[in-house]
Amino acid sequence: MALFLPGKTRCAVCDEAVHSDQEPVMFPQGLFDTRSPLAGFDDAVAHYRCLSTTETGRRAVHELREFLDDRVAYVRSRNKL
Ligand SMILES: [Zn+2]
Repeated sequence: MALFLPGKTRCAVCDEAVHSDQEPVMFPQGLFDTRSPLAGFDDAVAHYRCLSTTETGRRAVHELREFLDDRVAYVRSRNKL
């Protein structure tokens, strides 16, 4: 997961500092292919409000949610063993 230092880490969209109370979204390293239009979000942090203003940002959030849902399903399946 991207390193997030509240008030210091810059938003991948607007390049302003991201604070804890601004709905930060943290993307893990390796989530997006380097040739993908979403590659700029790889291992990055962004304000949710910034991501929600563009189609690319909304797609990145969607991909992150799918990734996290898959991880949760994997952990749940492992716990049933
Ligand atoms: Zn921003």
